[in-house]
Amino acid sequence: MVIAILPVTNINALGASRRDTVVTPHPCPACENTKTLCLGKLKENKGIITLKKDSSLFKCQNCGLLFRRPYASPKELYEAYSKVSITNWQYSQKRKDFLLTLKLVERLVPFGNVLDVGCFCGDLLGMLPSRYKKYGIEPSDSARRLAEEKGIIIIARSLEELDGEEIKFDLIVLLDVVEHLLFPFHAMQKLSSLLNRGGLIALSTGNTDALPWRLMRTDYWYYFTEHVSFFNLKWFKWMASQLDLRIVMLEKFSHFEGSILERWRQLSQCLAFWSAKKCRKYGLLYRLLSVTYPFSKVKKWPEAPTTRLWRDHVFVVMKSE
Ligand SMILES: [Zn+2]
Repeated sequence: MVIAILPVTNINALGASRRDTVVTPHPCPACENTKTLCLGKLKENKGIITLKKDSSLFKCQNCGLLFRRPYASPKELYEAYSKVSITNWQYSQKRKDFLLTLKLVERLVPFGNVLDVGCFCGDLLGMLPSRYKKYGIEPSDSARRLAEEKGIIIIARSLEELDGEEIKFDLIVLLDVVEHLLFPFHAMQKLSSLLNRGGLIALSTGNTDALPWRLMRTDYWYYFTEHVSFFNLKWFKWMASQLDLRIVMLEKFSHFEGSILERWRQLSQCLAFWSAKKCRKYGLLYRLLSVTYPFSKVKKWPEAPTTRLWRDHVFVVMKSE
């Protein structure tokens, strides 16, 4: 195990000063760089994966990946995901990343083999016309059975199980999947080797570049226990350059519908929370602020505010060169 003691070069969301040092026992799981920065403990512990230990958030200063450690082992993860019930995740046909994928297929993939990684019950593939050959990877036993009943060919239960696959694909889709992967770069490497020439990989996930995410950092709403890797444009550019892929589309979106007014109201709550946190180290200023509206309200909030209406997800399409 590599242990690096690194100087913190900027003030992070936890208020660490420039003189602090951070011990990082966790090299980056994507680029293997040992210069990873600890951004602090993750408080959120809701989710379908039971974590035995508290985890912290790390950031790789080379490729930009954010990741949670310590975490469950691949075996524990597989066992947990294989038992996920079909009612665990509900999919709407109006889901934004489904609609973006359908639009992409209509424009750029006239026919061919489509693989949905984490296809669950086969909802997305079921929306594609019958001229496509539809393949899936799915660990949940009950969801996989339903997908098979819809005519989807399951080629593996997990990416780890996928080995020596001879079929090549024109489109590989991973919607809200990469954040569940312990080793996202290895996964993308494996999948990109399965693309036909000119084939596409389309994925959706949270975007750590989103303004409220950068402000809230370890308090952001997205840290469910099943989420272990967190991405941004820097990482996608790095990954694409490593795998000879070209980013051909990048669109920000939110899974939730709401008015612009409500979206900005959520952001203003997030700003108030961030300001109060920043001022906490200035004793007198914080005491003055904490009796002034809106900060007088902030200290009564039981948990950090959420900004789910903000476009904090991203849909990325990459093309094999
Ligand atoms: Zn890295």
